[in-house]
Amino acid sequence: MDAADIEKDLSKIHYTEDQILAKLRELAGRIEQDYEGKDLLIVGVLRGAVMVMADLARSFSRHIEMDWMAISSYGSGTKSSGVVRIQKDLDTDITNRHVLIVEDIIDTGLTLSWLVSNLESRKPASLELCTAFVKPDAAKMAVPVKYVGLELPDEFVVGYGLDYAEKYRNLRCVATLAPHVYS
Ligand code: 5GP
Ligand code: MG
Ligand code: MG
Repeated sequence: MDAADIEKDLSKIHYTEDQILAKLRELAGRIEQDYEGKDLLIVGVLRGAVMVMADLARSFSRHIEMDWMAISSYGSGTKSSGVVRIQKDLDTDITNRHVLIVEDIIDTGLTLSWLVSNLESRKPASLELCTAFVKPDAAKMAVPVKYVGLELPDEFVVGYGLDYAEKYRNLRCVATLAPHVYS
């Protein structure tokens, strides 16, 4: 399979790599201001947030620490099940730490709501959320997201860390997967 084959599976490119990077740099700037004088631990949610973490982290001109959690809610389908399972917990004790959760995308927000209550129970000094992408349903979420990146329609997208059955994560853009691929 070469690059051209991957692109045949996409029906619409929503954001290019440059557009994504520009937005993440803007968010990083806001985060730097808001956490001035404070230690900051950014927590990436595996596996989707790997690319976001890499680009966000390198947009900072200050020290930050990075840790990871792996949780699953989707299986290999295309809609959230609401069933969340920890596959890898943090290595860091976040008690009294300033923590920023970094997500790839928020759709129903079920995963994130669960994660927030889980991390809140560990008594961090502060806990905020950052996401590279949001879908329309995220507006109904109970937990507020402080740093929101780019908006997407209510379609199943892939790329920039987002997978379909573990593939397409390595695309540089974010695109809607053509229905013929999964139907
Ligand atoms: P939520 O719980 O907010 O509905 O979604 C949880 C997770 O499902 C997201 O963090 C992301 O990993 C995945 N997800 C949500 N929407 C999409 C999508 O359109 N494409 C892909 N590949 N993953 C998605
Ligand atoms: Mg995610
Ligand atoms: Mg996935």
